[in-house]
Amino acid sequence: MPTPDEKVLARRAEIAAALSAIVPGEGVIDHPDGLRPYETDGLTAYRQAPMPVVLPETTAQVAAVIRWCHEHEVRIVPRGAGTSLSGGALPLADGVLLGLSKLNRILEIDYVDRLVVAQPGVTNLAITQAVESEGFYYAPDPSSQIACTIGGNVAENAGGVHCLKYGVTTNNVLGVEFVTATGEIVRLGGRGLEPPGLDLLGLVVGSEGLLGIVTEVTVRILPQPECVRALLIGFDDVESAGRCVAEIIASGIIPAGMEMMDRPAIHAAEAFVNVGYPLDVEALLIVELDGPAAECAALVDRVGGIAREMGAPSIRVSTSDGERAAFWAGRKAAFPAAGRLSPDYYCMDGTIPRRRLPEVLSRIRVLSEQHGLAVINVFHAGDGNLHPLILYDANRPGELELAEAFGEDILKLCVEVGGVLTGEHGVGVEKRDLMPVMFSEADLNQQKRVKCALDPKLLLNPGKMIPQLHRCAELGRMHVHRNDAPFPDLPRF
Ligand SMILES: Cc1cc2nc3c(=O)[nH]c(=O)nc-3n(C[C@H](O)[C@H](O)[C@H](O)COP(=O)(O)OP(=O)(O)OC[C@H]3O[C@@H](n4cnc5c(N)ncnc54)[C@H](O)[C@@H]3O)c2cc1C
Repeated sequence: MPTPDEKVLARRAEIAAALSAIVPGEGVIDHPDGLRPYETDGLTAYRQAPMPVVLPETTAQVAAVIRWCHEHEVRIVPRGAGTSLSGGALPLADGVLLGLSKLNRILEIDYVDRLVVAQPGVTNLAITQAVESEGFYYAPDPSSQIACTIGGNVAENAGGVHCLKYGVTTNNVLGVEFVTATGEIVRLGGRGLEPPGLDLLGLVVGSEGLLGIVTEVTVRILPQPECVRALLIGFDDVESAGRCVAEIIASGIIPAGMEMMDRPAIHAAEAFVNVGYPLDVEALLIVELDGPAAECAALVDRVGGIAREMGAPSIRVSTSDGERAAFWAGRKAAFPAAGRLSPDYYCMDGTIPRRRLPEVLSRIRVLSEQHGLAVINVFHAGDGNLHPLILYDANRPGELELAEAFGEDILKLCVEVGGVLTGEHGVGVEKRDLMPVMFSEADLNQQKRVKCALDPKLLLNPGKMIPQLHRCAELGRMHVHRNDAPFPDLPRF
């Protein structure tokens, strides 16, 4: 009798052999050492070796892999760069990991129609780099943009600092080529802003790899603004900083970016990058303004005036691109800076109405004391998207569970004050079981019907985003049930 391990190895070899015929050469990895880099994504608390990893180089190969998996009922986890912070690209023990990183070419740049057509494995930053010499850029700018892929951005509907003014991924994607769960190649959207027919592109953006595979993306590019300046504004209390954010927006100004850091985050970031952040303040706002030079100057004056009215004791305005970059350096390094304070951190992602910022921050401080874990707060203040970083030590028994419980309380708080479970990192495995906190059973069943219509065998990224859905035939009679652990069948790191 073969042992369970031998059965896994035999099954892996069988699937690898079949997929090697579709993606020859070095397109399939099945050696345990080769699988190791794919065991986890940005949610590093979870780890699972996949069945083989398959790395197609063309859309036709992607479609053939999907068709084979569909026919043989093999589950598939799509993966871009694996930077998901919600475990979206976490492998399944019995599933193929479909890596899209070799589809990494920019196919077309059209300055007249102001668009770029790219394969899904092209990094977010590479799109801007491809067009910046002609004075253009791609606006959505996740902090992970040096690594994360445009396909992963579409799947997660990624955001970033500049999304306050220029919209998140869904507002900047015009069309995709898409491989369905049965292996058909279809085109959704197009090259203009309003294609005819049902808005299936809207359905696919943010679908976290549950509905099909994105194999080509057409994005809008924008001309670089003539002038960009940033203000670094310190406050004696978080409430005043929160009021300043609300007042700037209420006055009709939409900054290109508006980010806030609390005192622990300011200190951590300054120790990391040394750019002269004020250390005697409780909250720091970075407000970036862009546009024609005259408008930019007027906006800087108006925002400075509002900040003074809100009692800001320290205001600096960037006088050069270098200084502006220095203002941002600390904010952009906030995650690695947290890594110097603690062996591990757990990055949360929830969104709240802007006006509730001060109240939510003070309740997070109370939760921090209750759970006995420190937290530092950085967030996209303009759109109310919080990123509390919970500091913990995974080597201390029970601390990961404590961090998760703390994170869950923060997300429930976001929903309680009228916000939502995620701002930009997606649901993945991390927030899957919290979906009923936000959605009614009828709401969730509607989402499950869409999933079942497009992937009736439930082969694409199962176990992510949608609370337990075992068989589509169950739909209508099923109850959403909560698991004790977010993803009980996966061993933790
Ligand atoms: C340090 C750090 C900072 C971050 N900052 C931000 C931020 O500012 N804003 C933000 O929005 N996110 C941020 N993220 C999260 C992450 O980078 C984004 O979610 C990003 O969009 C993921 O892209 P990826 O290529 O790494 O996708 P992966 O992590 O590989 O996959 C993400 C999800 O997309 C699916 N997927 C990937 N490619 C495809 C495809 N071609 N077709 C179908 N499904 C696919 C996967 O199955 C998975 O569910 C950050 C992450 C890190 C580690």
